[in-house]
Amino acid sequence: MKAAVLKAIGEPLQVREVPLPEVGPDEVLVQTRTCGICRTDLHIQDGLAYVPSLPHVPGHEPAGVVATVGERVATVVPGQRVVPHLFVTCGRCRACRAGDQAQCRQPDGIIGVTRAGGFAEYFVAPARNLVPIPPGVDDGAAGLTSCAAITAVHAYRRAPVGVGQTAVVLGAGGIGLILVQLLKRAGARVVALSRSAPSRDLAQRQGADESLPLGDPEIVDRVLALTEGEGADCVFELVGLAHTMGVAAACTARGGRLVVIGEEAEHPAVDTITIAQRELVLCGSRNGGLQDAADAMAWMASGIIRPLIDRRFPLDEINAALDYVRSGAAHGRVVIEVPG
Ligand SMILES: [Zn+2]
Ligand SMILES: [Zn+2]
Repeated sequence: MKAAVLKAIGEPLQVREVPLPEVGPDEVLVQTRTCGICRTDLHIQDGLAYVPSLPHVPGHEPAGVVATVGERVATVVPGQRVVPHLFVTCGRCRACRAGDQAQCRQPDGIIGVTRAGGFAEYFVAPARNLVPIPPGVDDGAAGLTSCAAITAVHAYRRAPVGVGQTAVVLGAGGIGLILVQLLKRAGARVVALSRSAPSRDLAQRQGADESLPLGDPEIVDRVLALTEGEGADCVFELVGLAHTMGVAAACTARGGRLVVIGEEAEHPAVDTITIAQRELVLCGSRNGGLQDAADAMAWMASGIIRPLIDRRFPLDEINAALDYVRSGAAHGRVVIEVPG
């Protein structure tokens, strides 16, 4: 089969023939139709996160059609459209039993991140990881369930906010824009912060009540001015830099909640006096569980989640697609299409 292969850190991917992956008794071979590109793909290519063993086939937002199933698989059939939950879990640990699959204590890898993924004509997933795609949901959008949409749904559940409350979404990329949709659906007032004017514009088109430039030195005062000096009931931090964490904490109301989704190897610029005296609740959020995946898909089918796709590239043009994401010119997801 054809696959886009990362042979060395920092190099472009090579589109070439590789052996078809083997399918275990509880696994499924899926013929890829589309696969979204996420910033984590760039981090993997750059060696900044999750260094997989090389050569590696990345791609962790795939959607496709079941081609063949292992001998013990009874839950999906060939021809069915599916997306994978990415975490290949142990199924036995405390997190797995609680349905918190992204916190599995003994995972056997992450599809497209540390295991082979969807920048290929086929990929393999355990049958229990597969979420069916409902009729009417486009493949390219459905694939975003695995990363952008599931992450937004899980983060939204980490912080109950709704009618009469204000949420700040700091970072208006793929996950942030879906969070704006979910928070508006819940009835919250939403303030989006982004450095990019087109992203702020997109956030407002998704329903954000206000959007403010993240680079503005007065940004905290502007958020406080919108909330009678109180700050937001909840701030979703999708950037993860030391500086943006400082902004996020300063924008959080007393007793409010700061949900950290953005990941960078930085120490947040928020002092313990602020955390203690203002009684901030800090909580992390990573991807999500199978329930979050099922709900993300259902909410996509019902139109609550409306992923934004900026542009589609064929698999052969994977490097042009990655460069386009890297350039920052994409507003919404970039999706790879794999000819069948
Ligand atoms: Zn991702
Ligand atoms: Zn587990």
